[in-house]
Amino acid sequence: MEKINLKQLEDAIYICAQCGYCNNVCATYKNNRWESASPRGKIYMMRDHIKLGNRRSKSIPADYVERFYYCLLCGRCKEVCQTNIDTLELFRSFRAWYVRNKYPIPENLQYLQKNLNSVYNPAGFDVEKRQLWLEDLDNLRVKQEADVLYFVGCTSSFYLRNTFVPKNFIKILEHANVKYTVIGADEICCGNPTLLMGDYASAKKIAEKNLEVFEKLGVSTIVASCAGCARAFTEDYPHILNMRIKPRVLHAAEYINELLDENKLQFKEMKGIYTYHDPCELGRHLKIYEPPRRILENIPGVEFRELLYNKADARCCGAGGGVKGIDNELAVNIAKGKYLEVEEVGARNLVSCCPTCKWNLFHAKKEAKAKANPVDLIELVAKALVKAE
Ligand code: SF4
Ligand code: SF4
Repeated sequence: MEKINLKQLEDAIYICAQCGYCNNVCATYKNNRWESASPRGKIYMMRDHIKLGNRRSKSIPADYVERFYYCLLCGRCKEVCQTNIDTLELFRSFRAWYVRNKYPIPENLQYLQKNLNSVYNPAGFDVEKRQLWLEDLDNLRVKQEADVLYFVGCTSSFYLRNTFVPKNFIKILEHANVKYTVIGADEICCGNPTLLMGDYASAKKIAEKNLEVFEKLGVSTIVASCAGCARAFTEDYPHILNMRIKPRVLHAAEYINELLDENKLQFKEMKGIYTYHDPCELGRHLKIYEPPRRILENIPGVEFRELLYNKADARCCGAGGGVKGIDNELAVNIAKGKYLEVEEVGARNLVSCCPTCKWNLFHAKKEAKAKANPVDLIELVAKALVKAE
């Protein structure tokens, strides 16, 4: 079930004053200047779409539906809304309204949806490939009975360019002597992409399968290195399953922060000027702002400089909401804007803690002719660890 029901959705779209404050902070609108894809424009169109949807004989053109997928679901518009509308949940719920009423979602996303329903990963990879990242790691201390489940996520499992995330996170867990386990080839998607598309029925099936696995493992903590997985487990599962999952769920940045508190990590100097990009699903959605900053402060030699737009005001990397799947050029253009901010503060390392953010920022670096390198926090922490004697 979505967080906003149809009645709340209908109320919200008439509360909107059409003032346009939200358009001013919307990255997709700033790039393509389509009023119909802006937050204000989408809300205006919703009024019509709901009326048309109630009279099934009147169809809604596919490109109008598509406008709702030209949205990063970043939630920046929510922060400035003059009438306190939860625009983020409104746009998520409206995608669900389209899917429930059988309006076709953009073709590229339909492809992902089909894969998620068959092999439980968006790109349609063979399930066995999910644990390829584990192959060249020797002497792993993966335990049958563990306290901590490390949930790797699809983005970091299947794509070679992202497997540095689980490989490095395992290094951190081993360094800190954590009793951990991974699901391996049997891990399935967390359901976040199905939720982004608005397919709550598929998300529910996925969540039920995951719940069964978590219960069998009996772990007390689940750690996710992907902001999207962390959001799905903590924010969305309670709504779609109508219950909270038993183990506590932490994002890797929060867990590393706990390991710091327990004095389990020792760092060497990593001299350089660093800044931090708040991933939308970790920052604005889950309000996790301090742990990554605290970790950076604890690494000797790190000179931290805050971006002009940070925390609740941070700009999206450009890949959110499925936008990278339907318009890669738009996603990369938005990411190029992030590098302008980075240049302004003179940082040479752009740290984030979401593999999708790093992936998109990496794509944009060349086009932006940026001097700064995108780095994942996990990668940096693993590199900074002082090896045991
Ligand atoms: S969620 Fe982000 S991309 Fe979507 S309308 Fe709001 S500001 Fe624009
Ligand atoms: S800021 Fe809020 S009230 Fe104003 S147009 Fe945007 S959604 Fe509507």
